[in-house]
Amino acid sequence: MIQTRRILPYISRRFKSNSTVIGIDLGTTNSAVAFMNSKNQPQIIENEEGKRTTPSIVAYKQNDILVGLPAKRQALINPENTFFATKRLIGRKFTDPEVQRDLDNVSYKIIPNNSNDAVLKSTNNQTISPSEISSKILEKMTSIANNYLDEKIDKAVVTVPAYFNDSQRQATKNSGKLIGLDILRVINEPTAAALAYGCDKSRKEGIIAVFDFGGGTFDISILDIEDGVFEVRATNGNTHLGGEDFDILIMNWILKKFKLETGIDLSNDRIAIQRIREISEMAKIELDHNEKFEINLPFISQDHHINYTITSSEFDEMSLPIIEKCIDPVKRCIKDADLKIKDIDEVLLVGGMTRMPKIRQVVEELFNKKPSTAVNPDEAVALGAAIQGGVLSGHMKNVVLLDVTPLSLGIETYGGIFSPLIPRNSAVPVKKEQIFSTAIDGQTGVEIRCYQGERTLVKDNKLIGQFKLGNIPKGPKGTPQISVEFEIDADGIINVSASDKTKYPKDSPHYGKPNKVSIQVTEIGLTDSEVEKMIKESESNKLKDQEMRKVYEHASRGEILVTDTEIALIQFGELMEEKDKEDTKTAIDDAKNLIDDIRSNKTQDVNLLNNKLNEMQKICMEAIKKVAIKQQQEET
Ligand code: AMP
Repeated sequence: MIQTRRILPYISRRFKSNSTVIGIDLGTTNSAVAFMNSKNQPQIIENEEGKRTTPSIVAYKQNDILVGLPAKRQALINPENTFFATKRLIGRKFTDPEVQRDLDNVSYKIIPNNSNDAVLKSTNNQTISPSEISSKILEKMTSIANNYLDEKIDKAVVTVPAYFNDSQRQATKNSGKLIGLDILRVINEPTAAALAYGCDKSRKEGIIAVFDFGGGTFDISILDIEDGVFEVRATNGNTHLGGEDFDILIMNWILKKFKLETGIDLSNDRIAIQRIREISEMAKIELDHNEKFEINLPFISQDHHINYTITSSEFDEMSLPIIEKCIDPVKRCIKDADLKIKDIDEVLLVGGMTRMPKIRQVVEELFNKKPSTAVNPDEAVALGAAIQGGVLSGHMKNVVLLDVTPLSLGIETYGGIFSPLIPRNSAVPVKKEQIFSTAIDGQTGVEIRCYQGERTLVKDNKLIGQFKLGNIPKGPKGTPQISVEFEIDADGIINVSASDKTKYPKDSPHYGKPNKVSIQVTEIGLTDSEVEKMIKESESNKLKDQEMRKVYEHASRGEILVTDTEIALIQFGELMEEKDKEDTKTAIDDAKNLIDDIRSNKTQDVNLLNNKLNEMQKICMEAIKKVAIKQQQEET
């Protein structure tokens, strides 16, 4: 996963097009779409209802599929087929605790599919993946753009929470594929917001915190701006903290009060829950600027009505524990960026929840300064995505997002040594190829084990994928030309392939066929702190690792020499004098035992190993020499 992001002066990109590349903020609660207008400014496109954001809600109704406001409007009468906040489920397993937590809080059914992925189930037993829901929303946003621009739009930049792992990013890209929308890039929401903010050229330099509190996720990013160059120094957050939690808080407050008064538990009454949930969100929003809010829900259950009043101070008090969940990620993020709170020059608010006065107050206290709202919190992300779309289509030439790899990527080579192909901090997209070969004569297959990390030995790094390349034509060790290629695309998705460049002989059944195997690495999912831990460990172990590398290289060389000697023993053993044969065997065993001791860290005495190997080779060569002399004598 890509952890660090920089925005640098324009560098050439692989894609150029004159068609519009729209920016879509595919939000948990609401989505927005924007484009670069003729004045080279990002502009939000209003939907057919004249609204600048569209609810991320999809409803299945008989043979009809409703998206956006029409879906939201009918939610009350069709709660079990109205799917909202499904972005939280995308790319997750059913058993994921985050999914389990949602089971009781949504009005629709979530079930596991055959692969244990969390999927949705409608009342007519249709199973729908969260990616399909995203694709419906993307389709809607694209059609809003199509109508406004009067142009067939088929390319977009889509935003995702910073904490989305590779499989969630991939699932988002696949949502585009389902509707023929080419998602050129997925970029992080706070990074997009920062881009929108960066368009305001008045700020030349400084440290910016992007505090993004939306409907379903919370992200905090620290950016460093210098002479128009933006660098995101750290990101942190919580994929399961958002506006919904506040709605649920008020909902539970109502349910508890109602049960206490009437003895009736409404928690299994889906329609009642939907009504309570809607009014809870309304209460939350209204309490921004009102001291109190009347919760009126007539006939909620038989002839029972709800008529409660909630005050803003009551709401503030009950929400404080949720709001305080933002504090830790903020502190960690600032620490990761190697900064102190006082170093932050400006705090940018993004996401609908940042309209809540209590949140603004906590942010102000936390950063010790008034947060800025220069960019509309609901629109910043889509505007930033549109700017990135403008860059990709070649319409904007002064900024670009450049992602870098947080850790080195490479493969295991003989003896457990890590051979990096893509060093850490390489700019992506990136493609690197290296040629490897076999270590043993007649080897017909190689196991490619891919790792991420900075340590010399693969055992100290993270295994991210493995596969086998077989059907290598038999040949002496070191002769096959096995090309291993790592490619990271602009979304941070990693593909690894291995191909044998040797051509098959004419009599081979594989003649004329290429020998290539590829895998896509999914779910690396390392957090910033895990990456940092790995880097720190590699720094503190640098000298030790260098020593170990030398020792392991000696051991690997030793293993190759032992194998050579064993092969010689098989070829000439029969002809050797019995004592020479026994001495060679003993020398091989001695060398093997010492290599085992080195591999299991019992000793690191490479001088002793080299002596043993020299001795083994000498004994074997002497024995073979004797065989050769004997054969010559017999011939004459
Ligand atoms: P977003 O994901 O950025 O669209 O944010 C949506 C979330 O913000 C939802 O939970 C909304 O209920 C919440 N929200 C929108 N407007 C307000 C407001 N004025 N006050 C409090 N919360 C709001």
